[in-house]
This record gives sequence, structure tokens and C-alpha cells, in this order.
Amino acid sequence: EIRIRDLHKSFGDNQVLRGIDLDIAQGEVVCVIGPSGSGKSTLLRCVNLLEEPTRGQVFVGGTEVTDPDVDIDAVRRRIGMVFQQFNLFPHLTVTENLTLPQRRVLKRDKARAAKAAAENLERVGLSEKAGAYPSSLSGGQQQRVAIARALAMGPRVMLFDEPTSALDPELVGDVLAVMRMLADEGMTMMVVTHEMAFAREVADRVVFMDGGVIVEDGTPERVIGDPAHERTRHFLSRLL
Ligand code: ATP
Ligand code: MG
Repeated sequence: EIRIRDLHKSFGDNQVLRGIDLDIAQGEVVCVIGPSGSGKSTLLRCVNLLEEPTRGQVFVGGTEVTDPDVDIDAVRRRIGMVFQQFNLFPHLTVTENLTLPQRRVLKRDKARAAKAAAENLERVGLSEKAGAYPSSLSGGQQQRVAIARALAMGPRVMLFDEPTSALDPELVGDVLAVMRMLADEGMTMMVVTHEMAFAREVADRVVFMDGGVIVEDGTPERVIGDPAHERTRHFLSRLL
């Protein structure tokens, strides 16, 4: 579903990605781990063209998103992204936060957008907050709204960039539970996270990045439980 070939990204002379090759099959959940500055966010952002790669190719669902002639909006419709910061509109209700992008980007009519909003709020367990404003919600609830907002667009793949890093520890579990549900439903997911328990239990594969390259790529048991590289061992020893 996602195919990344020889991906490079530089900012000036800072070579952040130095040749990434990665395949993610439909329904697969891949967790990306690695030290700060290793290029994890840049990698995700290159997949949905928030950053333009310097070199290499990215395919999502058979479409080359790095093709210069590609319809960027069409690509982004196919890819849901959830960030550390929830980026909800504070002056809109939860439902309005979910319907706005559907109406603007997908040109859905009011009733269709409201239906998808209600369905996806229910999926993340927040139906009763439909009329609430973001400021009245906990961080965990706001992040679940952000996930529902992405899901309401009907994406083929979901990208998560440290979705629980800004949350108080007691709120992390609810968000991870929603992500686990998506994984169980067969969503293709690429998740940058420091939650090793989640990676162990939910990921099909774990990718360890350092210095803009993939150092290890394998099952969670292998990469987290029995890392082959010293750099991976060092990273994990500081985390656990
Ligand atoms: P963290 O774990 O801290 O989130 P990361 O692995 O996500 O780190 P990136 O955010 O991808 O790392 O950043 C990798 C490098 O790219 C860093 O050196 C950063 O300074 C640089 N970088 C990222 N975005 C930009 C940008 N828009 N302009 C210039 N440099 C950037
Ligand atoms: Mg990052």
C-alpha cells in the first residue's frame, strides 16, 4: 500500500533522509522508532507531501505521490495524518471540526458529512461530545477527535506522528486503544511512537531509524526484543 524507494530529503546541507526503502502492505501496522532528529517526522511528512523529497519515490495505493504531475489534494485525501498537537479549531464544535474538512475537501453535502462525523465519533467513543467545544475536552479526548476527523475523510492509510507524546500519562491508554481498534479493523498504519508496549503488541513490524537511514526492520519481537545492531540496543536501553 505504501512503497518508498531511495528517499532522500535535505534541508540545505543537512541530509535528513539518506536513502529510505520501505514497503508497507495493505492492513499492515509499522511502528517507526529512533532518536530525536533521526528523520522520523520528515519521513512521514514526505509520504503525504507535507515535505517535498529531494530524491526518490513514494507510492501510496499504487499512485506515485512524488510524480510532479500528481494531484496533491487527491493524494492527501487518501492519507489521514494525526500529529502530536491535535490542531482542532477552537471556535468550532467537535462535529463541526469533523464536517468542515469533508465539506471543503471532499465537497460532501451537509447530511453526508454529518453522517460520517457521527459514525466516526462513535468509533472513537465520543458520541456524547458531538456538540462540545475542544477546550472542554481532555487532551486524550481531543486527540481522539483528531483521529475521528481524519477517519471521516475515508483514508486508505493513516500516519501517526507521536500521537500520545503531548498527553498526560493517564490519557495515553484511551488513544492507544483507538489505534489498536483501527489496526484490528485492518487499517494500514505508519506510527512514529515511543510507546514500546504498543509497538510490541500492535505492530506487525518495527523500523528503527538513526541518522536518516533505516538501521533495522523486522518483527517487534526481533527489533525490540533482540536487536541486531548496537545503535538499536543503545536507543532501547535509554528508553526502557
Ligand atoms: P523527534 O523525535 O525529535 O521528533 P525526528 O526523528 O522526528 O525527531 P525530524 O523532525 O524528522 O526528526 O528532523 C530531522 C532533522 O531535520 C533535524 O535535524 C531537524 O532539525 C531537521 N528539520 C526538520 N524539519 C525541518 C525544516 N522544515 N527545515 C529545516 N530543517 C528541518
Ligand atoms: Mg518527530
